[in-house]
Amino acid sequence: QFLTIEGGEGVGKTTNIQFVQSILEQHNIPFIQTREPGGTPLAEELRELLLAKRDEPFDPVAELLLMFAARAQHVSQVIKPALASGKWVICDRFTDATFAYQGGGRQLDWQVITQLEQSALNNFKPDKTLLLDVAPEIGMKRAAARSDFDRFESEQMAFFKRVRDAYLKRKNDDPERFLMIDASKDLATVQSSIKQSLERFIKQ
Ligand code: C5P
Ligand code: MG
Repeated sequence: QFLTIEGGEGVGKTTNIQFVQSILEQHNIPFIQTREPGGTPLAEELRELLLAKRDEPFDPVAELLLMFAARAQHVSQVIKPALASGKWVICDRFTDATFAYQGGGRQLDWQVITQLEQSALNNFKPDKTLLLDVAPEIGMKRAAARSDFDRFESEQMAFFKRVRDAYLKRKNDDPERFLMIDASKDLATVQSSIKQSLERFIKQ
């Protein structure tokens, strides 16, 4: 199964991915863990290009196409081979993040991203997506504790509000695929709802 984890800044993605891993281990499910943008040496180079701050403005369409370039590489080199060998794939962000950040955040045409998802990925989608949802005001307060923000994390609040709304739109357009978690709650509550949702999915 192909499982992705999504959410805006400060939702607790890193901590909760480790928690997801531990649940799969308890159930003796073989898996690999990977991330986007990145996941292969070439795609990680594209990630560095995408996240670096520089003087030249990044054209939003160039950003969008590089996200899909990294993703195509990642899918063919890592994700599909792992799934074919019978492993689960746990991926930190995937195409939903592009709808959220480039679609919502950068306000690129939703239909263009849908077309790229179809043409570049042959409409390849996760089986399940764990969406950690929190109001950006709360998420940014948590994330502010960190230093060295990347190019995206340095955006304004309005950008992160659009990111969250776009994630919620993705969920509403495909409710079967999403496991939505209220990440405003304390960690113990968040993890018990992740455990519940994930174990229901495992037992299907
Ligand atoms: O998940 P992580 O925070 O490590 O992602 C790195 C950065 O790339 C984030 O700031 C995220 O917002 C950004 N990103 C993006 N568009 C994507 C995927 C990630 O803007 N499609
Ligand atoms: Mg980040």
